[in-house]
Amino acid sequence: MTLFPDMFDRVFGQSIFGRAAEKGIVEMHCHQIREYTKNKQMQVDDYPYGGGMGMVMFPQPIADCFAAVCEQVGSRPHLIYMSPQGRTLTQQRAKELAQLPNVCILCGHYEGVDERVLEALVDEQISIGDYVLTGGEIPAMALVDCVARMVPGVLADEVCFTEESHFAGLLEYPQYTRPFEWEGHQVPEILISGHHANIARWRREQSLERTRRLRPDMLENAELSDKDRAYLASLSETEEE
Ligand code: SAM
Repeated sequence: MTLFPDMFDRVFGQSIFGRAAEKGIVEMHCHQIREYTKNKQMQVDDYPYGGGMGMVMFPQPIADCFAAVCEQVGSRPHLIYMSPQGRTLTQQRAKELAQLPNVCILCGHYEGVDERVLEALVDEQISIGDYVLTGGEIPAMALVDCVARMVPGVLADEVCFTEESHFAGLLEYPQYTRPFEWEGHQVPEILISGHHANIARWRREQSLERTRRLRPDMLENAELSDKDRAYLASLSETEEE
């Protein structure tokens, strides 16, 4: 639900989401909140009570738009309001949302939406980070993209996302492609060894090393084996020497 549905066309009409939508694996409909206004000017917002800058979106068009969405879907979808005041989006939350049959996303604009909409209708508020954007459209696109790629069949194989950064609490290992040598920099020899077990172990260690270096906070919740812990301990010992 948005005041700027056209913004979504270019982003989701192509590439991975576009192909998945063509195959009917995922479906997205943009609903223009303005169509549900009941005033001649099709006004969707007004000045805030109590004064202050900006405009606040009326509750009625949003509520009526949501009622129309519920009717179209045939049930009441989980309603998410994109908001800088929400809980920050994580891979884990996206994973859970990908299990739901439907999700409805409300995009705010201007100063945001009338608080009573949140109290009466919204199930969850999600933020994409501790900063403020002009509208909820870009945050909603980030959420749709992140959730949709975990819907079975959208990517070629589950491994495409289960081995990626954040899925199991680590950052992904470094990736290389051709040419083997570029501007004097070679691809690590192990990757052309053909020894799958060694490559898998090397990748795991790279993943552990870079998570420790770039995002040590993530290691607290990562799923680690004894071998992983031993490797991390060996990195600390090397540093101490
Ligand atoms: N007045 C609001 C506040 O201070 O919390 C900010 C309103 S913001 C300018 C307009 C809209 O952009 C919000 O209603 C929300 O939908 C969206 N938005 C802005 N930043 C966001 C963020 N970090 N995450 C999710 N949505 C965001």
